[in-house]
Amino acid sequence: MAAFDLTGKVALVTGGNGGIGLGMAKGLAEAGATVMVAGRDADKNRQAVKALGANADAVAADMAEEAGVKAVVAAAVQKFGRLDILVNNAGINIRKPPQDYVMEEWHRVMNINLTSLFVCCQAAYPHLKTRGGKIINIGSMMSIFGASFAAPYGASKGGVVQLTKSLASAWAGDNIQVNAVLPGWIDTELTKGAREQVSGLNEKVLARTPAARWGTPEDMAGIAVFLASPASDFITGTAIPVDGGYSAQG
Ligand code: NDP
Repeated sequence: MAAFDLTGKVALVTGGNGGIGLGMAKGLAEAGATVMVAGRDADKNRQAVKALGANADAVAADMAEEAGVKAVVAAAVQKFGRLDILVNNAGINIRKPPQDYVMEEWHRVMNINLTSLFVCCQAAYPHLKTRGGKIINIGSMMSIFGASFAAPYGASKGGVVQLTKSLASAWAGDNIQVNAVLPGWIDTELTKGAREQVSGLNEKVLARTPAARWGTPEDMAGIAVFLASPASDFITGTAIPVDGGYSAQG
């Protein structure tokens, strides 16, 4: 369908070498986009490019630093000559009770999940505005709900939703749509860590999720294609849960 066709578009997916980012990158590639993924781990980058096929490449950078974020955007434009779609997906969590965080941990989570996301949007803006474009920011169920073990993560992901609304308002006149996706509990390296650290989490997730299962990275492909494609041209500033009903159940 033409409304979902991404042929000729160039997408940058931060943290696209694994987990949710790779699930989204695969969807974008299948819909015809050329994809640049960014992550620190060169081996994971190589594997991701292999999985994505001929129209893909990877750039290794630490996106906790402003210079790393700018380098990633520059690499995508230099390699593929344009940028149409930005998926801000790179993210981390440090789990502990709020009273136990040291400032360095707070800043590390805020830097990668929120500040770098903003820097990436700023760096991408001049490229996106030349033809209109799409930004997809990855929030979380913790953009909506609290969790006793994830105070800075929740603060950063709440910020992602509010930032999304500001950017959507500011850049609508440039024909740039900015939306957030709020994944439910998705089975990735990140949540493997959570399951190890938070006792009873697996059972709680299964009991609370109406779909009665964990999501998979592949479950995230459809929303990425939708929000990257002309099908969503009149949708901006939203935060869409992809959660098997987790946020719908009281
Ligand atoms: P993973 O840990 O599987 O993937 C995280 C990705 O981010 C990796 O590709 C990693 O690459 C990259 N990354 C992390 N830190 C940096 C950095 N400093 N610089 C560059 N890249 C970095 O996590 P998920 O796939 O689960 O999570 C992806 C996003 O989805 C995150 O924003 C997360 O908060 C969010 N999310 C996840 C949920 C889940 O249930 N899994 C639920 C809700 C939200 P590398 O290691 O090579 O640097």
